[in-house]
Amino acid sequence: MSEVPILKETTRTTGREALRNNITAAMALAGAVRTTLGPLGQDKLLIDDEGRTMVTNDGVTVLESAKVEHPVAKMLINASTTQDRIARDGTTSAVLLSAELLQNAWELVLQGVHPSAIARGYRHAEEACRQHFESLVIEATEEQMMAAATTSLSGKIHSAMQNHLATLAIQAARAVVEERPDGRVADPTRVKILTQTGGSMTDSSLVTGLVLAKKRVTDRMPKQITSGKIALVDGGIERREMMSNMKLSVANTGVLESFRQQEKTVLLDQINHLVDLGVTLLACKEGIDDDVHAALTEAGIQAYRRVARSDLDLLARGTNATLKNDVKGLTESDLGVFISSNNERWNGVMHWIVETEEGGATFIAKGSTNETVGEVERCFADALGVACQLLEEPYLLAGGGATQIALARHLRRFAEGFAGREQLAIEAFADALEIIPRTLAQNAGLDPLDSLLQTVAQQTTSNDPSPHHIGLNIERKSPSNMVDDGVVEPLRITRQVLAGATEAALSVLRIDDVPFRLDILRFRGNCFHIERSRSSARIIRARRLENMTGKLAMSTN
Ligand code: ADP
Ligand code: MG
Repeated sequence: MSEVPILKETTRTTGREALRNNITAAMALAGAVRTTLGPLGQDKLLIDDEGRTMVTNDGVTVLESAKVEHPVAKMLINASTTQDRIARDGTTSAVLLSAELLQNAWELVLQGVHPSAIARGYRHAEEACRQHFESLVIEATEEQMMAAATTSLSGKIHSAMQNHLATLAIQAARAVVEERPDGRVADPTRVKILTQTGGSMTDSSLVTGLVLAKKRVTDRMPKQITSGKIALVDGGIERREMMSNMKLSVANTGVLESFRQQEKTVLLDQINHLVDLGVTLLACKEGIDDDVHAALTEAGIQAYRRVARSDLDLLARGTNATLKNDVKGLTESDLGVFISSNNERWNGVMHWIVETEEGGATFIAKGSTNETVGEVERCFADALGVACQLLEEPYLLAGGGATQIALARHLRRFAEGFAGREQLAIEAFADALEIIPRTLAQNAGLDPLDSLLQTVAQQTTSNDPSPHHIGLNIERKSPSNMVDDGVVEPLRITRQVLAGATEAALSVLRIDDVPFRLDILRFRGNCFHIERSRSSARIIRARRLENMTGKLAMSTN
């Protein structure tokens, strides 16, 4: 590699040393989330620079708030974020798997296998897994869909709440599903989540239509209207602000009065335009001048001001309306339709409820404190993600490590067909997959190796018609058929974990030159590993996580 003069000034690590350094960072990162995996995984207490706290069991939340400095650690965090975006779940698994793939690759490097041979083997292995999924999947029934949504919540919230949230998530997903020429689409962002502090989390509910914590501009407007046209305005109905350097010369009182009158006429013209179009419901992003309240009321229009842009977008999707910058720009075709628009007082706060043809739903997250409301909100979003995916692609795989063990067994047979060093890499890939069942066992206080061996033995010798569904049931602390036990996950999540983790590991393997050496993976905020009582939200023990790389010793030749 040719020397670039500027690089001489910096400390660099190259070749094997660079790889070792990068893999150490990846392992340290995995170490930060390892204990959160699975239903008995523990929580992390995060405290940011401003002292705000959050308790979470979600891998990606921990990683994203950790603000790590190492570039390779950042790459793995990106993989986890992508996992979250595409599949909404499996974020911890993705990080654990990529770190394990790298760790196993390192051992091969020490035996003299070149990283490019490892990369080739890993690619073959991932492809072989993809093809093997077909013989492992089951088609999701209604009951299994519920099981999958509940599985995504295991360990995150208590079991009564898991069922409640899973049921609501499935209902919400159904409310937003659309049949399109290229297939079914269920977009979870079409479900609005409204948070309300106060009351119990079990009071969280789902309402058909869109609910906003808003009241109409004046109580004199109709409280409830049915089936009509809605106009959405990205601006407001207000007097234009005077330019700061503008001068108005007033010769007599009549001039000022006529100036004001003219301004009002401009505003009233806009209301007349709405009346001509037959609009009965109006939502603006900005203000609606007091001067036009009476005219709007007289015209029978129910109007709302200062509606958030995100809510206007949801309204636009639900009613098929188009947002316009100002009222005058509105034409017949920009208007949408609604079934009903209602105002109700809940817990002393006025709410606006709009029902539309296109359905849509609002989840109302409740809890006694901001933290519990946040937890309910995150859990609902996870279950909703799973439900939406299953409506789009109704295939499931067995959880509890069953799928990873079945894939590993398949890969070991597949590897025998390769004569070169790729064979070793494919076997290393198979070993890496087993990090999932191992970690699940470890977090449940079981011996990881014994549990793995027992489960593999059951898959090999059991006369269960679907041995590949045998995984480690953490609640029973023994291997069993995970599909029968209701521990199932969408195919899309597991497939994405595999693809994302392989991709991230391969990109790290390709790097052989790091322009500076970073020894530490520092949490800029504070991160505590906490043990929480299962029966209540009480924290039993907290241990601080810091300077993690220093604790990991890796052998070098
Ligand atoms: P991730 O962020 O990767 O989704 P989770 O903490 O949600 O991590 O854990 C998911 C893992 O827990 C999956 O592998 C799933 O199969 C497993 N799991 C969930 N419930 C059980 C159970 N009852 N027994 C065994 N494994 C389970
Ligand atoms: Mg999960």
